[in-house]
Amino acid sequence: MTGACPTVVLRARGCARVRGLHPWVFRDDVADDGGARSGDTVRMVDRAGGTCGYAFYSAHSKIALRRIRREDQPPDTAHWDQALGRARRWRERTVDPDVTAYRWVFAESDGIPGLIVDRYGEHLVVQCQTAAAERLLASLTPLLLARSGACSILARDDSAARTLEGLASRVAQITGRTPETIEVREGPIRYRVDPWRGQKTGAFLDQRDNRVSLGARCRGSVLDAFCYQGGFALHAARHAEEVMAVDSSGPALERGRADAASNGLAGIRFVEAKVFDELKRLARRGETFDVIVLDPPAFAKSRRDLAAAERAYREVNRRAMLLLRPEGLLITCSCSYNLSDEQFERVVADAAADAGRDLRLVERRTQSSDHPVRLGFPESHYLKCLVLSVI
Ligand code: SAH
Repeated sequence: MTGACPTVVLRARGCARVRGLHPWVFRDDVADDGGARSGDTVRMVDRAGGTCGYAFYSAHSKIALRRIRREDQPPDTAHWDQALGRARRWRERTVDPDVTAYRWVFAESDGIPGLIVDRYGEHLVVQCQTAAAERLLASLTPLLLARSGACSILARDDSAARTLEGLASRVAQITGRTPETIEVREGPIRYRVDPWRGQKTGAFLDQRDNRVSLGARCRGSVLDAFCYQGGFALHAARHAEEVMAVDSSGPALERGRADAASNGLAGIRFVEAKVFDELKRLARRGETFDVIVLDPPAFAKSRRDLAAAERAYREVNRRAMLLLRPEGLLITCSCSYNLSDEQFERVVADAAADAGRDLRLVERRTQSSDHPVRLGFPESHYLKCLVLSVI
């Protein structure tokens, strides 16, 4: 990991960013790439030769550099091991001991640019978002195993983000043997993860805190819309009378049904459908709910999609609001980074106006603590969760 590193010269704006809090330098702010190639660890300097620290280089993405450290010293094994140790201690402090599935490394937020490491019991599932992260993984593998005691590592390098980096999609066994199914705990609930084929690395770990604490507030009749494997539904079913869980993914619902059975929760009905269609059907039948959870996929994948995404959020929220009983609770989420907190709140307010319903804003929530937000790096904050009650 040491050896000669190319030197990249930054323009003034790039220097200001990485000397400040933001860990990225965009291509326009690079004056001279010093012959660096994708995946290289490089030394960053200003035009006068003053140090800006070390970074990972990407030749394809608009994000040319991702800062590793500010010091003028290439990162060695000890540097990475310390980063893993810090990441680990943060989870030990903030993740409940009865949780066995959580994000151990959240890329830039944990000082390991482009690398995600999720822990499912004895198994690790990683995502390398850049060529550098892919290269780093080879040297981190022994450290990851030593620090976690895990027995396998699977790389789920099949996310769409990799195409921006010019990287091929792959699902690869890095070490050990990752099983088809892993059973994990999330507080009072046990659930099954499919690390090979499930969405993301198998689960939506960013919603864990919300599932645990909001699930406990559910009463009466609950609708979990965009439920994936029914994470919210399982927690809700411990307190509610009946739960309906809707998603378009058949395999996810299959796991949800099996999880409901093994948790001894009989009151959940899993429905395979498009949420927009199902909300219309429920309205036609005059069905109503005490609690509705809306957790759609990111409608705004890029800034270009923003207008269409806002319309979709507005429409799905309006339809859900019309199904709420008096004093009912709406738990509405957006995982679109491109839609800000303020924009999301405005869209939800517009939906309430369309529906003619007055709502109380009970709580603003965000992603779980194992997806830490790095101050001065807004890209690390993406999940918004509003809790509203009908007045
Ligand atoms: N609430 C879940 C995570 C939901 S992620 C949890 O806590 O685990 C978004 C989900 O929306 C995915 O499961 C995806 O399959 C589903 N989805 C995407 N588009 C959909 C649509 N039009 N109708 C129903 N489900 C959809």
